[in-house]
Amino acid sequence: MSRLPVSASKRVLLTSSSSSENGQDFAPAQKKIRKDPEPVKPHAAATIISGRRPPVAATRAPISRPVRGVGAATVAGVPSRGVLKQSVASTAAKGGNVKPTAAPTAPKTGAGGGTKRHAWDFKGKVSDMEGKIRNYQTKVKTTNQENEELRSTMAQTQSRVSEMEKKLEKQTRQISEYEAELQALSGVRDELETVSSDKCTLEKELSSLESKYKVVETLRDSQETELQTLKMKLSVQESTMARLQAALRDSEEEVRSLKDTVVQQKDELHAGEMERRQLHNAIQELKGNIRVFCRVRPLVEGGLSKHIQLSPSDNKTITLAKTEESHTGKAADTQKNYNFSFDRVFGPQSLQQEVFEEISLLVQSALDGYNVCCFAYGQTGSGKTYTMEGGEYDECRGVIPRAVKQIFRAAEKLGTQGWEFTFTASFVEIYNEGLRDLLYSGKASKRPEHEIRKSANNEVTITNLTYQRVCSEDQVLHLIMLANQNRSTAQTAQNDRSSRSHSVFQLDIEGVNAGRDVKCKSTLCMVDLAGSERMLKSQSQGERFKEMTAINGSLSNLGIVITALANKESYVPYRNSKLTYLLQGCLGGNSKTLMFVNIAPETDSFGETLNSLRFASKVNDCVIGTASANRK
Ligand code: ADP
Ligand code: MG
Repeated sequence: MSRLPVSASKRVLLTSSSSSENGQDFAPAQKKIRKDPEPVKPHAAATIISGRRPPVAATRAPISRPVRGVGAATVAGVPSRGVLKQSVASTAAKGGNVKPTAAPTAPKTGAGGGTKRHAWDFKGKVSDMEGKIRNYQTKVKTTNQENEELRSTMAQTQSRVSEMEKKLEKQTRQISEYEAELQALSGVRDELETVSSDKCTLEKELSSLESKYKVVETLRDSQETELQTLKMKLSVQESTMARLQAALRDSEEEVRSLKDTVVQQKDELHAGEMERRQLHNAIQELKGNIRVFCRVRPLVEGGLSKHIQLSPSDNKTITLAKTEESHTGKAADTQKNYNFSFDRVFGPQSLQQEVFEEISLLVQSALDGYNVCCFAYGQTGSGKTYTMEGGEYDECRGVIPRAVKQIFRAAEKLGTQGWEFTFTASFVEIYNEGLRDLLYSGKASKRPEHEIRKSANNEVTITNLTYQRVCSEDQVLHLIMLANQNRSTAQTAQNDRSSRSHSVFQLDIEGVNAGRDVKCKSTLCMVDLAGSERMLKSQSQGERFKEMTAINGSLSNLGIVITALANKESYVPYRNSKLTYLLQGCLGGNSKTLMFVNIAPETDSFGETLNSLRFASKVNDCVIGTASANRK
């Protein structure tokens, strides 16, 4: 479509160029035409008056050739006959009067081959000549007429020429106008092309927009449907909400009354908790503030040796039987039995869990604000460390990790009643009456010295000791590991040192119930005592003798202290050993004490076993003054 105007314009362009060519063609013709009128007149005059100028006219008026052809040819034809030329010329020279009288006797024309006059017949010849002149005159007349006609034709032609010139001018003007127009149109064409390409783009856009619009329409329709559904749902939900709001109001009312109840019950719970503590303590006191448990380690190969007998009916007695051979050999062997009874006797099959269940009540007391002290007494290899710390696996865990776990759990529960607890752990070794921090993690060369200090409010602390904040069982297990590492380093330096030192794990417990304005503070002590075996004085010397003296001194002093406390003596020799000095806060009036006496079942341990059981039963017989919780 767009091409059509272009080709049309081309055509116009071609036409105009061809017309311009014609115009060029016309131009010389115009010039020729304009020059023509001038020579016409002289030519006509020459024709009539004389034949002298025709050649000039012939060269200067090419357009009048036909005119000249008629006239001049006629005139020129005459001179070809030499005779006639001369006579005409002479006649003209004589006076111009060429009108001769026609010679009737001139029957022949020069051209025709009529009868030839005689030489003498001048008259005839004259009449011939006259006839010829008449002919010529007639011819001239005709020629003049023709000339006139030609002139008028020429005038017509000239007017036509001028007309055509005007037309030409007009057409030239038109052409230039057309050209200008064409120029303008070519601009318009470019514009048109741009517009048409724009149109194309717009059409594409339009079609894409239309398709988009259709999509949007579909979407709108679906959304309208969705909207309707949502409106319906909304109305349903509004009604549900109204119902729920009503229910909420009821619930709020209920919550308010429940809150009141909760407050009331919290008060009751707190009162109950306080009562529970009192009752729990009463039970513990009835059980005795100092208790002794006996635990028999299994034989390495399993089972129990004959000399140890446990009562099948109860789990409180243990009998050591010794068969004495007759010295003479005649009498029967005599058997001597040593009976002991304790708060509880654990056989070789007892699990760590069972052992702990008995202690857990005391652990609860620690959390209630009573100091608790737990010792493991016995010869080396009897199971003291196993009872206190236990093995790596959960079921083998000893009293310390289990107690700590219970304390953390109970503290968490008490948290709901407004109690907040902080726990601080320390681990110290007493060797040769010297103190060693088992949680020390610095350089061995920079290990500090320690001293036991007693504050004004009777609190005992150790200088430079690591007091570690703990809040999880894992942290405590990590501390036990660290303590064991510290002990084993010392052990390699000194063979079997751990059995000749006491290790004391202490967990300081501080509880605050800000809402009730109640605080409690207590310490849980777990002591893995040095091996109680005795050596012959003759066998021990030097460092060993020093060790033995220290161990014997501290263990026997422990017995003396407990006895003094039981007898309510005014003076209790705490200061006689580092162990009792350190534990003075946890022993006596304000505490609950548990002693494990660990027994090795092997026959060759009989003597040591007997000693241990005797020591333990001495402690068991003591009654420590009634404990009171450390309330503030
Ligand atoms: P102590 O600390 O009194 O020197 P240990 O606790 O180290 O004695 O015990 C000595 C060995 O006997 C250890 O290998 C320990 O695992 C094992 N043992 C002690 N008591 C028991 C027990 N009740 N059940 C099983 N193995 C025990
Ligand atoms: Mg040990």
